Amino acid sequence: MTIRIDEARVFEIVEAKRPSRIVVNAPGGLLRQTKDLMDVIKERYGVTCILAGDSCYGICDTVDDEAPKLQADLALHIGHNATVKEVGDCTYLIDAVDDITFDEVLDLALPGLAPYRRIGLATFSQHLEQLGVVRRRLESEGFEVLIGRKNNLMLEGQIFGCDFSTSQPLQEEVDAFVFLGESEFHAVGLALATDKPTFMLDPYMNTVTDMRQAAEERKRRAILAVYSALDAKVFGVITGLKEGQKMLGRSKWITKRLEMNGRRVVQLALRDVTPERLAPHREIEAFIQTACPRISIDGFSFDRPVLSIPQADALVALMEGRGMGEFLQRPKWIELTVGLTSR
Ligand code: SF4
Repeated sequence: MTIRIDEARVFEIVEAKRPSRIVVNAPGGLLRQTKDLMDVIKERYGVTCILAGDSCYGICDTVDDEAPKLQADLALHIGHNATVKEVGDCTYLIDAVDDITFDEVLDLALPGLAPYRRIGLATFSQHLEQLGVVRRRLESEGFEVLIGRKNNLMLEGQIFGCDFSTSQPLQEEVDAFVFLGESEFHAVGLALATDKPTFMLDPYMNTVTDMRQAAEERKRRAILAVYSALDAKVFGVITGLKEGQKMLGRSKWITKRLEMNGRRVVQLALRDVTPERLAPHREIEAFIQTACPRISIDGFSFDRPVLSIPQADALVALMEGRGMGEFLQRPKWIELTVGLTSR
């Protein structure tokens, strides 16, 4: 793996801000490079960095609030590239880029893509620089290629695990999506949000995966969970405490609708929504969490229904005598608050 953190930008920020202490966080896959960067900062500027070691899965996991608690005056959030570059009081988002190319895996993918003429291209942060290269190659093979426009949070062609608002509007214009990268998490989300044939091109394993079966399975489980929750009399409504996921307004709305429909609600707030954290709340028959939707869509180890925001919308629709509709086919499964707090 050849992932490069944008060190030059870090140096610029440190030289401009002259911090006394820095808090840093990064997703698990970038911890080695991040620790190397911390050493470099210490050596070059004599500034101590503290790694915030709690879970870091997405751009929602910034640690701006932790900086003062750790007597730090600068926070660096590594590896979730975005149009937003600065958030909260003192956090800077630092890009990381993977140098691996898609040439070989594209050779493998071409026969399977032949039935489709118009291809939507998408990827996650680390492979954004490869979009143009892959686009040119596909066009030279006769495909029409569309890449979703950037918006207030995401760059051109970028998706997050909960936000497909660049690519989802292309749903009617393309015959299939190609997702660049080794992340079933993102690829299956794209397939669910667009309901289009979606192929994941993994440049490390050199594999091409049709995501339709995985998407269908997740969708079936998501629908089943909604129907299971319909019988519950006592609900737990969970608001996420992570900085980019604070959806108090949505929690309030869902609580109100449940109460209007005769359910009792216990309101909870959690940083991490896990089976262990939910276990003590035995009287609660079903949960709705307004934090990361993937906890619900991909979380197969809960012993009771744990619904995401789109599933909660489907549940409320059923309670009120309407159809649940295609509740996962939407541009965003959560409105990340990280984009709303940029400086
Ligand atoms: S809320 Fe979105 S950005 Fe955050 S971890 Fe979940 S999928 Fe990723």
